[in-house]
Amino acid sequence: MIDPELRELYQEIILDHGRHPRHFGQLEGANREADGHNPLCGDKIHVYLRVDDEAKIEDVMFDGRGCAISIASASMMTELLRGKTVDGGKRLMNAFLDMVKGDDADFEGVDEDDLDQLQAMSGVSEFPMRVKCATLAWHTFAAAAEGDGDATTE
Ligand code: ZN
Repeated sequence: MIDPELRELYQEIILDHGRHPRHFGQLEGANREADGHNPLCGDKIHVYLRVDDEAKIEDVMFDGRGCAISIASASMMTELLRGKTVDGGKRLMNAFLDMVKGDDADFEGVDEDDLDQLQAMSGVSEFPMRVKCATLAWHTFAAAAEGDGDATTE
Protein backbone atom coordinates (compact mmCIF):
# COMPACT_ATOMS: atom_id res chain seq x y z
CA MET A 1 0.00 0.00 0.00
CA ILE A 2 1.10 3.53 -0.64
CA ASP A 3 1.43 6.05 2.15
CA PRO A 4 -1.50 8.58 1.89
CA GLU A 5 0.82 11.58 1.74
CA LEU A 6 2.81 10.04 -1.05
CA ARG A 7 -0.40 9.12 -2.80
CA GLU A 8 -1.44 12.75 -2.77
CA LEU A 9 1.91 13.84 -4.13
CA TYR A 10 1.73 11.20 -6.85
CA GLN A 11 -1.76 12.33 -7.82
CA GLU A 12 -0.53 15.89 -8.12
CA ILE A 13 2.34 14.81 -10.34
CA ILE A 14 0.00 12.84 -12.58
CA LEU A 15 -2.54 15.67 -12.79
CA ASP A 16 0.19 18.14 -13.62
CA HIS A 17 1.56 15.99 -16.43
CA GLY A 18 -1.98 15.29 -17.67
CA ARG A 19 -2.80 18.98 -17.85
CA HIS A 20 0.55 20.20 -19.08
CA PRO A 21 2.10 17.36 -21.02
CA ARG A 22 5.85 17.73 -21.63
CA HIS A 23 7.32 17.26 -25.10
CA PHE A 24 3.89 17.17 -26.69
CA GLY A 25 3.80 17.61 -30.45
CA GLN A 26 5.45 16.43 -33.59
CA LEU A 27 9.19 15.84 -33.47
CA GLU A 28 11.04 17.20 -36.45
CA GLY A 29 13.78 14.92 -37.64
CA ALA A 30 12.27 11.84 -36.00
CA ASN A 31 13.76 8.65 -37.42
CA ARG A 32 11.51 6.18 -35.62
CA GLU A 33 7.86 6.44 -34.75
CA ALA A 34 4.82 4.36 -33.92
CA ASP A 35 1.12 4.60 -33.24
CA GLY A 36 -0.33 3.17 -30.09
CA HIS A 37 -3.96 2.38 -29.41
CA ASN A 38 -5.75 1.33 -26.27
CA PRO A 39 -9.20 0.25 -27.48
CA LEU A 40 -10.45 -0.31 -23.95
CA CYS A 41 -10.32 3.39 -23.13
CA GLY A 42 -9.94 4.94 -26.58
CA ASP A 43 -6.46 6.35 -25.96
CA LYS A 44 -4.48 6.96 -29.14
CA ILE A 45 -0.98 8.28 -29.06
CA HIS A 46 1.91 8.62 -31.43
CA VAL A 47 5.51 8.44 -30.26
CA TYR A 48 8.40 10.04 -32.17
CA LEU A 49 12.01 9.19 -31.51
CA ARG A 50 15.27 10.51 -32.82
CA VAL A 51 17.87 7.83 -32.20
CA ASP A 52 21.54 8.34 -33.07
CA ASP A 53 24.07 5.85 -34.46
CA GLU A 54 24.95 4.67 -30.96
CA ALA A 55 21.31 3.83 -30.23
CA LYS A 56 21.02 6.80 -27.92
CA ILE A 57 17.65 8.54 -27.74
CA GLU A 58 18.50 12.12 -28.60
CA ASP A 59 14.94 13.30 -28.53
CA VAL A 60 11.46 11.95 -27.95
CA MET A 61 8.05 13.53 -28.30
CA PHE A 62 4.48 12.36 -28.47
CA ASP A 63 1.06 13.54 -29.51
CA GLY A 64 -2.42 12.16 -29.62
CA ARG A 65 -5.52 12.05 -27.48
CA GLY A 66 -6.37 10.08 -24.43
CA CYS A 67 -7.42 10.09 -20.82
CA ALA A 68 -5.40 11.93 -18.18
CA ILE A 69 -3.53 8.79 -17.15
CA SER A 70 -2.41 7.90 -20.67
CA ILE A 71 -1.26 11.44 -21.40
CA ALA A 72 0.46 11.83 -18.03
CA SER A 73 2.27 8.55 -18.46
CA ALA A 74 3.42 9.49 -21.97
CA SER A 75 4.58 12.88 -20.73
CA MET A 76 6.58 11.35 -17.89
CA MET A 77 8.00 8.77 -20.25
CA THR A 78 9.39 11.42 -22.59
CA GLU A 79 11.26 12.98 -19.68
CA LEU A 80 12.66 9.64 -18.65
CA LEU A 81 13.75 8.51 -22.10
CA ARG A 82 15.62 11.59 -23.24
CA GLY A 83 19.33 10.93 -23.33
CA LYS A 84 19.00 7.22 -22.55
CA THR A 85 19.97 4.40 -24.85
CA VAL A 86 17.20 2.34 -26.40
CA ASP A 87 18.23 -0.57 -24.17
CA GLY A 88 18.21 1.63 -21.09
CA GLY A 89 14.73 2.80 -22.06
CA LYS A 90 13.53 -0.77 -22.40
CA ARG A 91 14.90 -1.63 -18.98
CA LEU A 92 12.89 1.22 -17.53
CA MET A 93 9.87 0.04 -19.46
CA ASN A 94 10.12 -3.49 -18.09
CA ALA A 95 10.49 -2.21 -14.53
CA PHE A 96 7.50 0.04 -15.07
CA LEU A 97 5.33 -2.69 -16.59
CA ASP A 98 6.05 -5.01 -13.66
CA MET A 99 5.37 -2.25 -11.19
CA VAL A 100 1.96 -1.24 -12.54
CA LYS A 101 0.90 -4.84 -12.95
CA GLY A 102 1.69 -5.33 -9.28
CA ASP A 103 4.52 -7.78 -9.98
CA ASP A 104 7.92 -7.63 -8.35
CA ALA A 105 9.81 -5.15 -10.45
CA ASP A 106 13.53 -5.37 -11.14
CA PHE A 107 14.91 -1.90 -10.55
CA GLU A 108 18.53 -2.88 -10.93
CA GLY A 109 20.40 -0.31 -12.96
CA VAL A 110 17.52 2.19 -12.72
CA ASP A 111 18.71 5.44 -11.22
CA GLU A 112 16.96 6.90 -8.22
CA ASP A 113 15.44 9.99 -9.81
CA ASP A 114 13.97 7.86 -12.56
CA LEU A 115 12.57 5.49 -10.01
CA ASP A 116 10.83 8.34 -8.17
CA GLN A 117 9.17 9.39 -11.41
CA LEU A 118 8.09 5.87 -12.22
CA GLN A 119 6.72 5.36 -8.75
CA ALA A 120 4.39 8.31 -9.16
CA MET A 121 2.39 6.03 -11.46
CA SER A 122 2.51 3.03 -9.14
CA GLY A 123 -0.96 3.72 -7.72
CA VAL A 124 -2.36 2.66 -11.07
CA SER A 125 -1.70 -0.95 -10.09
CA GLU A 126 -4.78 -0.72 -7.86
CA PHE A 127 -6.95 0.03 -10.89
CA PRO A 128 -6.58 -2.76 -13.46
CA MET A 129 -8.65 -0.86 -16.02
CA ARG A 130 -6.10 1.94 -15.87
CA VAL A 131 -3.03 -0.21 -16.30
CA LYS A 132 -3.45 -0.26 -20.08
CA CYS A 133 -3.78 3.52 -20.13
CA ALA A 134 -0.55 3.87 -18.15
CA THR A 135 1.42 1.38 -20.22
CA LEU A 136 0.27 2.48 -23.69
CA ALA A 137 3.03 5.04 -24.19
CA TRP A 138 5.71 2.55 -23.21
CA HIS A 139 4.43 -0.13 -25.56
CA THR A 140 4.35 2.49 -28.29
CA PHE A 141 7.92 3.51 -27.49
CA ALA A 142 8.99 -0.14 -27.79
CA ALA A 143 7.19 -0.49 -31.12
CA ALA A 144 8.86 2.67 -32.40
CA ALA A 145 12.28 1.54 -31.20
CA GLU A 146 11.83 -1.84 -32.89
CA GLY A 147 10.39 -0.30 -36.01
CA ASP A 148 7.20 -2.34 -35.66
CA GLY A 149 5.03 0.61 -36.54
CA ASP A 150 2.09 -0.07 -34.25
CA ALA A 151 1.26 -0.97 -30.72
CA THR A 152 -1.96 -2.01 -29.17
CA THR A 153 -2.71 -2.87 -25.58
CA GLU A 154 -4.99 -5.70 -26.75
ZN1 ZN B 1 -7.09 5.75 -20.87
